Amino acid sequence: MKEKVDLLNKDYESKTAQELLAAVLADFGKHLVVASSLGAEDQVITDMVLKLYPKARIFILDTGRLHQETYAVIDASMKKYGHNYEIYFPDTKSVQDMVSQKGMNHFYTSVDNRKECCFFRKVEPINRVLGSADAWVTGLRATQSVTRTTLQKAEWDLGHEMIKLNPLADWSDEDVWAYIHKNDVPVNALHEQGYPSIGCAPCTRAIEPGEDLRAGRWWWESADQKECGLHVVDGKLVRKSNEKKESFD
Ligand code: SF4
Repeated sequence: MKEKVDLLNKDYESKTAQELLAAVLADFGKHLVVASSLGAEDQVITDMVLKLYPKARIFILDTGRLHQETYAVIDASMKKYGHNYEIYFPDTKSVQDMVSQKGMNHFYTSVDNRKECCFFRKVEPINRVLGSADAWVTGLRATQSVTRTTLQKAEWDLGHEMIKLNPLADWSDEDVWAYIHKNDVPVNALHEQGYPSIGCAPCTRAIEPGEDLRAGRWWWESADQKECGLHVVDGKLVRKSNEKKESFD
């Protein structure tokens, strides 16, 4: 599979993000899904994809702990694009059991507890979504954090055993915002309040000028632990879809 990914990266090297998305839509069609966390990068991808293919499958994981501002982006995007997202929720019993036994905010108490919460609220639902696809698209960028520095436009997702595509891998923060302003893309109001990266409300804070872009995510943990379990990063984190511990974001 490494050879196939190397070939894709060679093919995608000179392509713009839009050209890459057009190519993967042609290659994978309805077997392609786009992940959206409603952050700035994912809004760029959403705008590009829906202009290329209005019926594209774009999915959202509603963890049950999102900001109201994030829900507002969902509604604004549905209105602007006339598009319906696929919105996935965690397994009810898993979350009920977890919070009944450990409380509502146990994720602050240890990395294991935080990963457990991310697993039930994000990883298990995304495993369900990706089980229906052959490839998925993310808005990840290499310069977002120390855990993403070697990110490539095409990767083999070991955890899900499928192709993962990152059309914005080589984009800068400035590129993202220039596209948003030029194309009048709906964005989360929290970005203007110092939140460059937005996840669940209790696990996201605003950052200070000069801080790492993902410093506001799980800020009580060290930088190399800050992945929520949705992605294999640098090939370090591997988990089969039915396993519970460890992570891949
Ligand atoms: S980001 Fe926080 S609240 Fe959201 S799933 Fe992970 S630990 Fe739970």
